[in-house]
Amino acid sequence: MLTTAEKEIQKSSKKDLYEAPDYYLMDELLTEEHKLVRNSVRDWVKKEVSPIIEDYAQRAEFPKHLLKGLADIGAFGPTVPIEYGGAGLDYISYGLIMQEIERGDSGIRSTASVQGSLVMYPIYAYGSEDQKKKYLPKLASGEMMGCFGLTEPDHGSDPSAMSSTIKDQGDHFLLNGAKMWISNAPFADIAVVWAKDDQGDIRGMIVERGMEGFSTPETHNKWSLRASATGELVFDNVKIPKENIFPNIKGLKGPLGCLNQARFGIAWGALGAAMDCYDTALRYSKERMQFDKPIGQFQLQQKKLAEMITEITKGQLLVWRLGVLKNENRATAAQISMAKRNSVELALNIAREARQMLGGMGITGEFPIMRHMMNLESVVTYEGTHDIHLLITGMDVTGLNAFK
Ligand SMILES: Cc1cc2nc3c(=O)[nH]c(=O)nc-3n(C[C@H](O)[C@H](O)[C@H](O)COP(=O)(O)OP(=O)(O)OC[C@H]3O[C@@H](n4cnc5c(N)ncnc54)[C@H](O)[C@@H]3O)c2cc1C
Repeated sequence: MLTTAEKEIQKSSKKDLYEAPDYYLMDELLTEEHKLVRNSVRDWVKKEVSPIIEDYAQRAEFPKHLLKGLADIGAFGPTVPIEYGGAGLDYISYGLIMQEIERGDSGIRSTASVQGSLVMYPIYAYGSEDQKKKYLPKLASGEMMGCFGLTEPDHGSDPSAMSSTIKDQGDHFLLNGAKMWISNAPFADIAVVWAKDDQGDIRGMIVERGMEGFSTPETHNKWSLRASATGELVFDNVKIPKENIFPNIKGLKGPLGCLNQARFGIAWGALGAAMDCYDTALRYSKERMQFDKPIGQFQLQQKKLAEMITEITKGQLLVWRLGVLKNENRATAAQISMAKRNSVELALNIAREARQMLGGMGITGEFPIMRHMMNLESVVTYEGTHDIHLLITGMDVTGLNAFK
């Protein structure tokens, strides 16, 4: 039986009373446009995501009806120029959009990251003019959805060893192989796929749903990113027209360039999840009475909150600076790795501490913390695992490769 206070807390949590922490007055570093973009996404998440997300996560279902709204708030390809249907925004706006969406749910942010950074970005950066005109406007409007196939059953952290191939058949290529753990795969209309050509070079291409020999079986039984659809991509002699190959890129730098874009967004996004956990725990700590006091009055709980806000503030400063460097085209891949790793680590730690602060209520779906915590277990693994990003930083500072 819930106490009256617990029922009140439940009711208020459903209303989404989120107030973003801004301990170092970071808003003063943002332009009016940044704040406008951030606030409109924040409002949209409160109205459209918070009320439904827990149910969808419990049912392990992707809320497909949100796609139109995601497109309307500019979440698909925020930095892609307006002439191709994008929003033409800078990287700080992009980061803020990801932060606010992931404040709602990492799975919804994953869909936006994949569409913008892993599907639209490679078409924009590596594609022909015809490919850009054909796909980008429809992807920006959400009329068409995409997925990104790099990881394979036997090749995750080391994609250079991939075994998917394309064989030149004169007027087309034949694609064979399989990709695993692909976000959006079950419903995507197109897939940006990476495979080796006859020379052993990694090439990128656009594979369309409906091409003979192409299937996308769904992956079930996930305890993480339950509101995101994940699947495989299976290619059995799929005929790829030559005009579907990206003309302007060869080698691993193709997919890695896309991952840089997405990792930048994740660095901001994971902070959003951390901010939501902190805000929830802070509010709860002032309302929940034990030993005749709000639990927030006990030093042990204050220690948790004080450490959370310190980590969030450091993380906010790091991603803001990274955004400035990215806008100036000076952010290195290693700097992006550091921020992705740092944000996800702090978010996971905060989620775990915040969950404990809510006691038994922390394990229920009445509050977002446990969902964030489980989601972050995927976020810490995809787009380069925690260990791999550490190795990237290690290699960057020493000049020595510890991968092999
Ligand atoms: C929910 C979800 C969605 C995903 N979405 C996509 C997607 O849309 N597209 C896509 O292409 N992929 C996607 N992925 C795949 C993801 O990027 C991979 O899971 C990730 O790269 C790790 O690969 P792996 O799972 O094969 O682990 P492995 O590479 O097998 O790693 C296992 C462990 O070994 C460690 N390890 C590996 N190499 C080293 C080394 N050299 N030194 C020290 N430790 C090492 C890793 O850090 C890890 O802890 C997704 C994954 C998940 C879980």
